[in-house]
Amino acid sequence: MIDQTHDPSLRSWVESANEPETEFPIQNLPFATFQRPDDGTPRLGVAIGDQVLDASAALRLDSMKTVMAMLPEHRRQLRRRISDFLARHTPGAEACLLPAADARLLLPCHIGDYTDFYASLHHATNVGRMFRPENPLLPNYKWVPVGYHGRASSIVASGTPIRRPRGQIVESPAGPPVYAPSRSLDYEVELGAFLGPGNLMGEPIPASEAGDHIFGVCLLNDWSARDIQTWEYQPLGPFLAKNFATSISPWVITMEALAPYRRAAEPRPESDPRPLPHLESTADDALAITLEVWLRSARMPEPVRISRGSFQAMYWTLAQMVAHHTSNGCPIRAGDLIGSGTVSGPENENRGCLLEITRRGAEPLALPSGEMRRFLEDGDEVILRGWCEAEGYRRIGLGECRGAILGALE
Ligand code: MN
Repeated sequence: MIDQTHDPSLRSWVESANEPETEFPIQNLPFATFQRPDDGTPRLGVAIGDQVLDASAALRLDSMKTVMAMLPEHRRQLRRRISDFLARHTPGAEACLLPAADARLLLPCHIGDYTDFYASLHHATNVGRMFRPENPLLPNYKWVPVGYHGRASSIVASGTPIRRPRGQIVESPAGPPVYAPSRSLDYEVELGAFLGPGNLMGEPIPASEAGDHIFGVCLLNDWSARDIQTWEYQPLGPFLAKNFATSISPWVITMEALAPYRRAAEPRPESDPRPLPHLESTADDALAITLEVWLRSARMPEPVRISRGSFQAMYWTLAQMVAHHTSNGCPIRAGDLIGSGTVSGPENENRGCLLEITRRGAEPLALPSGEMRRFLEDGDEVILRGWCEAEGYRRIGLGECRGAILGALE
C-alpha cells in the first residue's frame, strides 16, 4: 500500500537523508539491531541517511521481534510514526541519533528457523545442466518451490570472517573421499526474507495472505562448498556443504518500504503448468530489486563487480514460498528466515554464483589484478549490494553484506 511515507518529495531534518545518493532516505526506514559503542545492550535502530535512529529511545520500541510480530496494519502505523518523527523536527530529537559509523550492527534478531529455497529457474537450469546435461530440470521444479531446512546457528552478521570449511571430498572419480579443506568454496547471492506473524500448526497460509506474513528482506550469502556438496547431496539434499556459514546484511527493508517496487510476477510460458490453486501468485507479489556481487582479492585495492541481476526474474515469489512452506500445516514464526535461492537471470551477467560464472571451474574468471578465479581463495572478500528504483519514487538501498575468507584450520 502506497501512502504519504513514500512521497518522493518528503524530506528529513537529518540532512544526510536528503542526499541524492543515500541508500537510506526517509522513504526507506529499514530496521537493524545495534549496540552503542559504550553499551552492550541490543537496541532497535532505524537507518536515516548516515545516522541510526535509536528507536528504543525515540519510540519506546523494545525489540525487533516485537515489530516483526505486528500485524500489517500496525506495521503501517508504526512506519507513519517513524516517518513523522524524522520529517518534523521536535526539540531534543537529535539525542536519539547516533552516527551509523559508531553503531555495531548485530544480527536483526534471534533466528528461530532458517529455510533456503531454490526459486530461480535460471539458476536451477544452469546448475542442472552441469550435473545432468540431458535432463537439467527435475520434474517437480515447476510445481514445487523446492527448499531445504537450513541451520540457524551458523547465520552470521555481515563483516564476520568466514572460515574455509573442511569436509569429505572425493578427489579422483573412483577413489574414496578424504577429509580436507574445501577447494571449491563459492558464494550464492540471495534475498533473505524475515517472516512476520506466524500461523497455527496445522493451518496453512493461503497464497493470497502469504504476503502479510513477510516482514521484510535483507541480502543473504549462502556460502557453499561445491566439492562437499557434490559428494553428500544425495539422497537428502544439502547438509554440511551449506551450514558452516550464511551471511546476512544487518538492515531489514520492510515490505511497507518495498511497496513502490512490487510488480506482477512475470507470466509463465504457455507450455509451463499453472501453479496449483494453493500456490497461485497474487497480483503484485514479485519484487523489482537489483542485486549485485562484488569481489575483492587480498591483492586488489578495490572490489570489482562480477554480476548483476534482478529478483524480479525469480520463478517463485516469496509469498509462494511461504504458502508452500505452510501448505502441510508447518508453523512459521516471527523472526524465522527464508532464503530465496541463488538469484540468477537469463543473461550471462546475471549468474549469481561462481559455479555458474566459471561453469564449474572450466572457464576461470579474470580479475583486474591479473589473478584467475575458479572458486574463492583465502583472503577474498565477497560484497553483496542491492537497491530498488521505480519511476516517480526515491531510490532505496538494502545496504551491504560482506564476508572475507579465512584459511582452513590446520
Ligand atoms: Mn542457496
